[in-house]
Amino acid sequence: MWEPQYEKMPREELEKLQLERLQQMVKSAYEKVPFYRAKFQEVGLTPKDIKSLDDVSKLPFTSKSDFRDNYPFGMMAVPLSEVVRIHASSGTTGKPTVAPYNAKDIDTWSNLMARTLASAGAHSGDVIQNAYGYGLFTGGLGFHYGAERLGATVIPIAAGNTKRQIMLIEDLGTTVLTCTPSYALIVAETAQEMGIDLAASQLRLAVCGAEPWSENMRAEIEAKLGVTAIDIYGLTELLGPGVSCECSYKTGMHIWEDHFLAEIIDPVTEQPLPYGQQGELVLTALTKEAMPVIRFKTHDIVNLYPETCECGRTMIRMSKVHGRTDDMLIVRGVNVFPTQIESVLLSVEGVEPQYQIIVDRERHLDEIEIWVEVSDAVFSDEMRSLEELEKSVRAEMDSVLGIAARVKLVEPKTITRTEGKAKRVVDRREL
Ligand code: ADP
Ligand code: ZN
Repeated sequence: MWEPQYEKMPREELEKLQLERLQQMVKSAYEKVPFYRAKFQEVGLTPKDIKSLDDVSKLPFTSKSDFRDNYPFGMMAVPLSEVVRIHASSGTTGKPTVAPYNAKDIDTWSNLMARTLASAGAHSGDVIQNAYGYGLFTGGLGFHYGAERLGATVIPIAAGNTKRQIMLIEDLGTTVLTCTPSYALIVAETAQEMGIDLAASQLRLAVCGAEPWSENMRAEIEAKLGVTAIDIYGLTELLGPGVSCECSYKTGMHIWEDHFLAEIIDPVTEQPLPYGQQGELVLTALTKEAMPVIRFKTHDIVNLYPETCECGRTMIRMSKVHGRTDDMLIVRGVNVFPTQIESVLLSVEGVEPQYQIIVDRERHLDEIEIWVEVSDAVFSDEMRSLEELEKSVRAEMDSVLGIAARVKLVEPKTITRTEGKAKRVVDRREL
């Protein structure tokens, strides 16, 4: 265990620490961020009203749109001169969510990622091949700093160039692979094609996250790579990866509660739910300095299990992410909303506002196909202009949303109409 003094802290003591940190955080947000002050004032709240952990439910929620509305630096509690790094979420259209860090935040994050990697089963002396994307995305540098802090050897290879990944796994004696679960499977399949048995290599552990994956997928990764595969969760607004991670018992991801206060709410009524019930995860950052985040609605549907784990950690566990309250699709790591696809479609002439998005996974890569109706006039036209139309819709999807979608133009009235809500997304991915 990286920090047993926190990870195994008796609940009572932990909750005391959480309350102290929460009070400090609320005070700082109120004093330094006009956005929070205004929100607190709206509900007649001052920092003094937070007397117990339960009082957190009096605080207003924060949502992704608050970050967008205050883009780029409106949520910040420190001057830009104190910010040492800025990451951003994989925002597609419009403005991304900006995540500024001061030196202390980077230190906290590195430490939490070291704790996370240790919980997953890595240690100093490991050779960690980091195949998460480097850049604005929090994955690459988050894992990188954590691995260095742990005392491991890091190979900052980033995702892609799979044959080279496999060569380095063999030649450098990589023991830990960190990447998205879908990429782990691509590595496994490519090795098979090359006639290389990675199960016979030194590789022992895969730390996978950033997208939903199932137990079936875990079994496949473990068998094909000859590793233990561990789930890790995080999000840009709350530092990045390293919010929670499984231990070797794989019975849920321990949320690092000395840094994040977790609640579960009913996504519709927004009322707090008791532990054990499935609902939307709400997170409050307890130690983040550059950008306070209070009661962030993650949109992720999970269960929380408060019982002490067999590993000895007292920190609450969250289940795998069952789904999202919004309809956001994550296609090959790019976040897309059906509404964004709709607006692109509707910007093309001859296309009708009737469409369906079919998401599938082929060879472990997400494929997206958009069926869209065209007007009678276009359809009765020659094939040539249909082809041109398909091409321009595809090009528009690529340039505006950054996704390579297949487009299939269909006759008017092909797409099933429903009374009430339209079913825009058909997700055929078997996770
Ligand atoms: P990223 O840049 O990693 O995509 P974002 O902040 O854009 O980070 O996305 C965070 C979201 O990714 C989470 O709210 C969740 O929906 C999803 N996510 C991250 N890790 C996992 C995981 N281990 N399992 C399921 N979903 C995950
Ligand atoms: Zn555990």
